[in-house]
Amino acid sequence: MMNKLIARTLPYFPKKFVWIFSRKYIAGETIDEAILASRQLNEKGMLVTVDLLGEFITNLEQAKSNKDEYLAIIERFEAEKIKGNYSLKPTSFGLLLDAEVCYEYVREIVAKAAEYNNFVRIDMEDSKCVDLEIDMFRRIKAEFPKHVGLVFQAYLKRTMPDLEALMDIHSEENPINYRLCKGIYVEPKEIAYKDYHEVNEHYLKDLEYLLKNKVYVGIATHDRKLVEGAIKIIEENNIPGEHFEFQMLYGVTPELRKEILSKGYKMRVYVPYGKDWFGYSTRRLKENPKMASHIIKSLFIKG
Ligand code: FAD
Repeated sequence: MMNKLIARTLPYFPKKFVWIFSRKYIAGETIDEAILASRQLNEKGMLVTVDLLGEFITNLEQAKSNKDEYLAIIERFEAEKIKGNYSLKPTSFGLLLDAEVCYEYVREIVAKAAEYNNFVRIDMEDSKCVDLEIDMFRRIKAEFPKHVGLVFQAYLKRTMPDLEALMDIHSEENPINYRLCKGIYVEPKEIAYKDYHEVNEHYLKDLEYLLKNKVYVGIATHDRKLVEGAIKIIEENNIPGEHFEFQMLYGVTPELRKEILSKGYKMRVYVPYGKDWFGYSTRRLKENPKMASHIIKSLFIKG
């Protein structure tokens, strides 16, 4: 109840105050700050995936400007030799305004990353975007088989059928590369599992299916139970290290991150940055009130 109240009212708090809550989870406002944070993670043995904040746009000029900024990010990160790749949200490039323009922009970003033999991950957004994002992934993967990946959300009831349907573009030579997460948006119970145990059960089923079929998986979670479940699947099926990595969000559960690293597994940290941190933080809080309590806790419990 308290969480919900905080989450609902936080967008109306002064920006400076929200920054106190948010700064742990955001690398900064500028590309230089994102590079600094990424370099520090690289030095500790972690890879990164960089995300420019800003999801909702109202016109295609903003989409073009976001596209241009991503191209600049890629140039800078490659010049700075950061060990990492790129994540993006298609709605930032006009997915819900003009899906064709969005496809062209995302394609251009993937083509730029491909010039450096690097990789772009298409984040999965709320349920009205899923079909559009799968279609975009299919089209771009056909042209850049090694340079683009997608995200799936274990809470969606459609996820396993979607994974099965996409196996037609998977091969040992050009394996599909997914990130698997629980899913952060609030979706109706008709289409999404709501219960913690049910979501976890489906997460591990999806993961086992993907790993057994030699799909590359970014295992994106901070849930210790899921991390343990994933390691069990990996060990029981002798899944080689080049078929998966663990992924976590910037600033979240650094202790668990360290434990996973100490076992010798690959770890990638999602590094969000940008001037739109306010919208990102408050939207995340509204979407998932549970996060408010994590953020409040982090303010008082240091370490
Ligand atoms: P939870 O059960 O939510 O959390 C497990 C434990 O982790 C909690 O008990 C707590 O100890 C800790 N924890 C979780 N979140 C926080 C926090 N904010 N602060 C402090 N502690 C915390 N979702 C999408 O819908 N689309 C995407 O494209 C997407 N990309 C993602 C990329 C990465 C790398 C990661 C890690 C997550 C991504 N997510 C995405 C979000 C994801 O779907 C979940 O909402 C989020 O990761 C929380 O789920 P969890 O698996 O950590 O489990």
